[in-house]
Amino acid sequence: MEPLLNADLHCHSVVSDGTLTPEALAARAKANGVQLWALTDHDEIGGQERAMAAAKTLDMKYLTGVEISITFAGKTVHIVGLGFDHTNPDMVQGLRNTRGGRAERAKEMSEGLAKVGIHGAYEGALQYAGNHELISRTHFARFLVESGVCKDTSEVFRKYLTENKPGFVPHRWASLENAVNWITGAGGVAVIAHPARYGFTANEEYALFTEFKNHGGRGVEVITGSHSSADALQYAETALEYELAASRGSDFHSPDESHTDLGTLPWLPGQLTPVWELLSDRIQ
Ligand code: AMP
Ligand code: MN
Ligand code: MN
Ligand code: MN
Repeated sequence: MEPLLNADLHCHSVVSDGTLTPEALAARAKANGVQLWALTDHDEIGGQERAMAAAKTLDMKYLTGVEISITFAGKTVHIVGLGFDHTNPDMVQGLRNTRGGRAERAKEMSEGLAKVGIHGAYEGALQYAGNHELISRTHFARFLVESGVCKDTSEVFRKYLTENKPGFVPHRWASLENAVNWITGAGGVAVIAHPARYGFTANEEYALFTEFKNHGGRGVEVITGSHSSADALQYAETALEYELAASRGSDFHSPDESHTDLGTLPWLPGQLTPVWELLSDRIQ
């Protein structure tokens, strides 16, 4: 398959913190010219069958997908999994465990917000969560915007939901090793999501990429909605340096919030190996 393929291998539905159903996302991807699509909900593969069926109806190629939250060097990092068997029991159970702490964390976030005069945030956020097992900061952000506390979700994150802010609760997610093993054990390829977002030092980043490779990780997102063009250039170099395949995905969440729409991204730089070349037998 050619590198100039309109692949969009990163987005979110109502099954995690997106606002569209898997079917609506599939239709939007198709309308935007996507040729190969993956739905990658956070820590959750409950939307895979629907996404797969919708892609098939629209005659669009599909790879199974997930975005797993891990803790590495004290920070939250996201690992995308592509082309795995979504019925694999270890992966299903591992993701269930990862989701487990979210409700408790959300209640603590709500208590933190109550201390600065914002009441009822847990119940409020829950109203925006299509999947109550997957209550996330995004749902709190939507509640705080809709109730007029902030003007947009980025203001909410800046003032309330990031480190040292009143609604932030540190959380221990899965380990890098577990996430990569779940994905590769289920026949998929593990990809480091949006590496420019983490704010790692050079040493931390070296550790992340080295350990990721040692555990069997094989890809990195180079073209993503959360990278500037300078970030894309930088991580194209990193992909070559670590001999990783490159992925491309919008990280689309919502027509109202996302600045990068499905399928509207720069092409992968030509000298890189597209991650879908590693997955030709997993494409449906
Ligand atoms: P959680 O998994 O509950 O920690 O929520 C993380 C999600 O919050 C990410 O997947 C993004 O969708 C969203 N998010 C994180 N940081 C920001 C930000 N600065 N602005 C808007 N959304 C953000
Ligand atoms: Mn998200
Ligand atoms: Mn992410
Ligand atoms: Mn994402």
